Amino acid sequence: MNRAFVETLESADAGRGAVEALPVPQSYRAAVLLEEEQEMFAGVPMADRQPGKALHLREVATPEPGPGEALIAVMASAINYNTVWSALFAPVPTFQFLKRYARTGGLAARHDLPYHVLGSDLSGVVLRTGPGVRLWKPGDRVVAHCLSVELEEPEGHDDTMLDPQQRIWGYETNFGGLGELALVKANQLMPKAAHLTWEEAAAPGLVNSTAYRQLVSQHGAVMRQGDNVLIWGAAGGLGSYATQYVLNGGGTPICVVSNEQKAEICRAMGASAVIDRSVEQYRFWADEQTPDPREWRRLGERIRELTGGDDPDIVFEHPGRETFGASVYVARRGGVVVTCASTSGFRHEYDNRYLWMHLKRIVGSHFANYREAWLANRLVTRARIHPTLSAAYPLDRVRQAVDEVHGNQHHGKVGVLCLADEGGGVSDPETRARHENAINRFRA
Ligand code: NDP
Repeated sequence: MNRAFVETLESADAGRGAVEALPVPQSYRAAVLLEEEQEMFAGVPMADRQPGKALHLREVATPEPGPGEALIAVMASAINYNTVWSALFAPVPTFQFLKRYARTGGLAARHDLPYHVLGSDLSGVVLRTGPGVRLWKPGDRVVAHCLSVELEEPEGHDDTMLDPQQRIWGYETNFGGLGELALVKANQLMPKAAHLTWEEAAAPGLVNSTAYRQLVSQHGAVMRQGDNVLIWGAAGGLGSYATQYVLNGGGTPICVVSNEQKAEICRAMGASAVIDRSVEQYRFWADEQTPDPREWRRLGERIRELTGGDDPDIVFEHPGRETFGASVYVARRGGVVVTCASTSGFRHEYDNRYLWMHLKRIVGSHFANYREAWLANRLVTRARIHPTLSAAYPLDRVRQAVDEVHGNQHHGKVGVLCLADEGGGVSDPETRARHENAINRFRA
């Protein structure tokens, strides 16, 4: 994209006319996987796969927005763990999702391409809207949540996450956010927080909405004031928002992290109960097949030391196999383990006696419906939840960004600058000045 194009998008007073006058480029640069490479890691153990190797920057054709869709000029995006999974081609190559989507017909057929533009977060400017879009117009500064639904069937009309055609944009659909342009459904759009830079604004989306549903929403753990919440990976993507929700909601987070720097970030957020799992050296598995309940108990004792004797009302789960048995064990009688992932393996093992005899519940949670994503974003626009960006890389260093997240070398979120330069996009400096410390807390 040329500089004048980006400058027009950047200028705070670029109205609808100025943006509509911009020509739509016929192609754009994007981070893609290639279908011809989907077997590149075949036979390579997961531990030896390097996701960055699968990513390429390519010039791809610009899709035309259809009815109810919008074409976005992407100023910034963020790395989510689903992009790591995509680039590992695990558990399945995402080209399978694109083909399945395409088989539903109509506009979905466009998504089946020999390349997959990844990315499930963006901040940017609406460039064009398709027929029938009324709420959004060219020039609007937006973020996009990643829920793609069709809502043609009845199942999703109470809770859009239950739509049989529910997909995660940029993971199970094409034209995602890690490019200079992106195609979204207009009902993915939400206002960008005026006090944040483009890269800060792009950071919360996916993980913030997920943490909101998982902890706060009626569909998740319905956290109450006073609850003790054990948060795995409390300074990571999901956990850095979960910690904020617990603190905002009058609960006590018990933050688990793996080094002192992350422990310090949690304390700076306001958490006083922090467990450094690398110091404690928990070994929840005696060997690959045998969980070690003594180690679950040791974690439980440490939690009680920190809470004055209480067990967690809620356990915020996502590491999966490695921790799940411990999570079920340490939850209080009647407590909830709410899970949205299995980073360390999806075949979990836990002792069911601790679940049924102590009337605990396991709740599955996945992303968020539009309303939940909107409420989570509203907290960001009101500066009640802050982005947890630690670094932002230009698009041509996207491989490094993905490898860092895969290697757990990051804190909070890693951003990607697509069209924007770092630091741009703030149109409410007064609000920003009031929250500068919190906004920059995760900066390396
Ligand atoms: P991050 O890598 O940013 O954070 C995860 C954190 O988990 C790390 O910081 C690490 O913290 C901790 N962790 C990793 N492995 C282990 C382990 N074996 N035992 C204990 N802690 C561990 O990722 P995200 O938070 O963005 O995502 C986490 C998972 O959730 C991913 O699998 C992702 O795909 C999934 N996810 C699912 C969503 C959904 O809608 N279903 C939405 C978003 C994410 P530390 O080392 O400090 O302990």
